[in-house]
Amino acid sequence: MSKNIIALLPKHVANQIAAGEVIQRPSSIVKELIENSIDSKATKIQLIIKEAGKTLIQVVDNGIGMSPFDLPIAFERHTTSKIKKANDLFKIKTKGFRGEALASISAISHITAISRQLNDEMATCIKISGNKVESKELVIAEFGTSISVNNLFFNIPARRKFLKSNMVELKHIIDEFNRLVISHNNIHFSFFQNNNEIFNLIKTDLKKRIIRVFGAKFSEILVPVKEDTPVVKINGFIIKPSGSKKTRGQQFFFINKRYIKSPFLHHAVNSAFEGILSSGYFPGYFIFFEIDPNKIDINIHPTKTEVKFEDEQSIYAILRSSIKHSLGIFQVSPTLDFDKDSSMDTPYSYRDKSASIPPISLNKSFNPFNENNNIYNIESNDGLIEMDSDSKQTQEIFSEIIEDFVPQQVKVFQLFNKYLVSALPSGLLIINQRRAHQRILYEKFLASLSEKDAPSQQLLFPFEIKVSDTEYLYFTEQKNVMEAMGFKIDLSNSKVLKIIAIPVLVDEQNLESLVEKFLSDDPLTHKNGFSLGDTMAKRLCKALSIPSGKTLTIEEQQSLLASLFACKEKLVSPFNRQILVNFDAIEIEKRIN
Ligand code: ADP
Ligand code: MG
Repeated sequence: MSKNIIALLPKHVANQIAAGEVIQRPSSIVKELIENSIDSKATKIQLIIKEAGKTLIQVVDNGIGMSPFDLPIAFERHTTSKIKKANDLFKIKTKGFRGEALASISAISHITAISRQLNDEMATCIKISGNKVESKELVIAEFGTSISVNNLFFNIPARRKFLKSNMVELKHIIDEFNRLVISHNNIHFSFFQNNNEIFNLIKTDLKKRIIRVFGAKFSEILVPVKEDTPVVKINGFIIKPSGSKKTRGQQFFFINKRYIKSPFLHHAVNSAFEGILSSGYFPGYFIFFEIDPNKIDINIHPTKTEVKFEDEQSIYAILRSSIKHSLGIFQVSPTLDFDKDSSMDTPYSYRDKSASIPPISLNKSFNPFNENNNIYNIESNDGLIEMDSDSKQTQEIFSEIIEDFVPQQVKVFQLFNKYLVSALPSGLLIINQRRAHQRILYEKFLASLSEKDAPSQQLLFPFEIKVSDTEYLYFTEQKNVMEAMGFKIDLSNSKVLKIIAIPVLVDEQNLESLVEKFLSDDPLTHKNGFSLGDTMAKRLCKALSIPSGKTLTIEEQQSLLASLFACKEKLVSPFNRQILVNFDAIEIEKRIN
């Protein structure tokens, strides 16, 4: 006999599954709620979050509001006021249209929604938990809408567990917030995190909004782009080549004020910058396209960040030529010396020192061969083997090498400006100079962390750099650990980062590029159980280590060898990469006989 086994999923299960597509993390909710407020024609939007959205995300607007009847319906699946028939899909002017954001959010959190239309006397307040309306009452409130989302993923503990640290989730929220505020400079936005106002952005023009969001340093590096064609209107800004970074930094496309990702259009920008940016630098841009909604399809991804165009090739060509045009008009393309990377100037701190073996005190509990240790494997693997330094053989070879080793007597030379080669009685040693230096710096930074007073040098003139509100926030978070490393930072002015003292291992000349790197990096967080200090030490030694390609004097080479041999761990870099190879007599005989 046949057996029927197919059943319709219960509504709350279907909703939870759908929620998974739209709501990945707190920032997704921030996006959906603010987009709804924008669609409601609000001129003022407030974002309030607690604990990076894990306990509260609230958005308050002064838009058109909802009637007492509509308010609970808004939280049903596929309910929307924005489209009515299939054909409307081709003329979407609003952010939302799928009618599933509020239903999805209410499936996985506790919601309090209050809304009042301008001409109503009273507002309606409803409470919803896991898709069920628990209460509905009339309350006194301003016109507009306030939606509070509490206890995100309360009913899906597995999802809640996957949320990252507050700092990481906050960064996602800020990224999302930034995209929305840049594309809606005519709206007044404010943003409170744990009762602190971290942004207050009054209505202004696009350029000023960008500068307010990303910091005053943008006032000198934005170049306008503008193009009007029947196919597309383009406007916005590119970042002058001289302001471009070695990290991706600011790259924004908006289509009809909706943030989108488009590798295809990104390619157009890259090709416009070709020959102007040297390799390793990324173009920065804030580009707005206005296209007839008829000619695009934003319906291909639940979070609506991917768009299909009807006329892709022409848009590509128009974008590319309008950027080239701007680069030309504003004469920002000529002969700037981009090859000169300030990090190449890394003053090599061993230059004037004699080669002595520094005493090292080390955090003994730190085990670089811990499995979880591989936190930097996002770094592309350039084909080098990771090695197991516990292997007996290498350790034995090493103790022999060290017995032989008297720094000043050792013959060493540089190969390809990348390796140090040294002949020891035990064989031929080839050392990767950058990785060796990273190891040396890393152990020194760890040592200074474990000592109370990290060696620090006062700057004659404090170093000041303008920072955006977000950047200021990151520095507040990492101030303690930076100070433990020997920095002294004054954060009394929230617009300016002031560095008063730096670790002795850092050269003042190098400070600006170091700070730039810090600003463009992700906020510092505990990674895989590693302490902030450890992460910071790794970041510092990555930024400060001598690059491959740098010529070293004999003294520097000897000093580098000596310092490496004084390290607790000599075989792998802090990023788990092999530092050296040794060819012993047997190996060499094998090759040459
Ligand atoms: P969509 O935005 O795709 O229509 P949502 O689930 O986000 O779907 O919202 C459902 C409906 O609720 C919207 O179409 C709108 O009518 C109403 N709504 C949601 N948020 C607001 C708000 N802040 N102000 C006024 N109406 C809102
Ligand atoms: Mg919506």
